[in-house]
Amino acid sequence: MQIKVSDTFNRELPADPIKDNTRRQVEKACYSFVTPKVPKDPSLVHFTNDLGLELGFSKTDIGSTELFNIISGSTVYHNTNPYSMCYGGHQFGNWAGQLGDGRAINLFEIEHNNKRWALQLKGAGETTYSRTADGLAVLRSSIREHLCSEAMYHLGVPTTRSLALTLSGDSVLRDVMYNGNSAYEKGAIVCRVAPSFIRFGNFQIFASRNDKHTLQKLVDYTIKYFYREIDLKSPTRIIDFFNAVLDKTLKMIIEWQRVGFVHGVMNTDNMSILGLTIDYGPYGWLEGYDKSWTPNTTDRQHKRYKFGNQPSIALWNLYQLANALVFLTEETTPFEEALERYKSNIALQYLDMMRSKLGLTEKDENDIDMTSQLESILELSETDMTIFFRKLSEINKTNDTEKCLQIIHDAFYKPEEIKGDILLKWQEWFSLYLIRLNGEEKTDTERKENMNRINPKYVLRNYMAQMAIDKADTGDYNLIHELYNVLKSPYSELNEHEKWFTKRPEWARHKVGCSMLSCSS
Ligand code: AMP
Ligand code: MG
Repeated sequence: MQIKVSDTFNRELPADPIKDNTRRQVEKACYSFVTPKVPKDPSLVHFTNDLGLELGFSKTDIGSTELFNIISGSTVYHNTNPYSMCYGGHQFGNWAGQLGDGRAINLFEIEHNNKRWALQLKGAGETTYSRTADGLAVLRSSIREHLCSEAMYHLGVPTTRSLALTLSGDSVLRDVMYNGNSAYEKGAIVCRVAPSFIRFGNFQIFASRNDKHTLQKLVDYTIKYFYREIDLKSPTRIIDFFNAVLDKTLKMIIEWQRVGFVHGVMNTDNMSILGLTIDYGPYGWLEGYDKSWTPNTTDRQHKRYKFGNQPSIALWNLYQLANALVFLTEETTPFEEALERYKSNIALQYLDMMRSKLGLTEKDENDIDMTSQLESILELSETDMTIFFRKLSEINKTNDTEKCLQIIHDAFYKPEEIKGDILLKWQEWFSLYLIRLNGEEKTDTERKENMNRINPKYVLRNYMAQMAIDKADTGDYNLIHELYNVLKSPYSELNEHEKWFTKRPEWARHKVGCSMLSCSS
């Protein structure tokens, strides 16, 4: 096997000079060298073949013991030097100081077809940044990360990816609901892939320590490899960089809102500098449309990271990044202007996105009212977001409001509630919608095709992931394979997989793992 290793991060940026793997504060360095823990009895659960090929592995490589040994942490590929990154972050609104890759170890970078990729193991043992934790990950959270990052990729949402999911053969002690009930679980390792895993927090840590020198190096490195359109010699490169990060972040958030994804832990250490969805922890998917929903039980009280807050939290996080970067320029005005731009752009792009979900190509001055009215009606009686928008495409211009309600009827969790005032509100909204549809030049068929490219039929509903986890615990991985195949074509009509286009079953409503998730992983 010939891997086209092209390391840059650990060659061009300052390293922690201490090489023993001890927990400590690391200053003036972007990373520390560490070696993955050799797993006791590793076995492959699932491998993402198409991603493997995209990285330049041959079909023979993909099935080889050599590659398996690398992605399971059993061996270090020759001439490579694995490392963990140093970063800080604001957690739930408070500065938390140094965090770092506590259980992520970067293996190496690959350049293939003019694209740069970093491979990283999550759950491969203690690092310099593990603090009091063990550096490991359990099977349940690793299945969730593996399946969801691939699902997001196929939905067209910017995300880190997952090349492989491996059982380590080691046992890992966890207290799932933080209530004193610790138990041993199966350990697992995910091999994640992204152009880079640099986060907002990688920049924040140096600003917090008044380390201008390392901060500047990291900014220049990031521009050089990942924001190549920016001129490294330009005096405005820092603000240009910030503006570019801001745009990418904004795009990612719009995509989350489009598909009903709730990240759950939007701390600044979980914000990718490339605008990728990163760190799949207690995330969840909206079933009933509900702006105040978060799956994360750790956030139950304040709901800081609920669905409806994601656009404003991203802005808050961008403020923190701006605070770090402004340290290099001492000019606050351009940053303030950029952040103002986010506010107006997110409103515009959100509206465009909602219009596209509704299949509308023409703009109308009442669009804001129409979409926000819809959002509030969707919340009046629990209405499944995915089913509602998917079914909406079946409406024809000649339908009446009664027919519209019939078409989307499957989306209601409690159809008996659709009466009186709620029914009236739906009828009013559909009357408006039908008027808009009749003002569209596109035919019903054309609109349906467009809408079905925007509104997915299949998403990784929380209970689906949990079913795959329960089966996998017994050693049966068939459901992981099945879900992976469904989620690879989220916009298609897959007759043999129709059963995944249904509302969340009642048994899953309050089940741990389905509607409630903690950060324990
Ligand atoms: P997260 O909430 O997963 O984003 O993690 C926040 C911080 O805790 C990061 O610095 C992680 O690397 C670290 N962390 C989370 N779980 C573990 C673990 N099991 N062992 C070591 N560090 C961890
Ligand atoms: Mg994290």
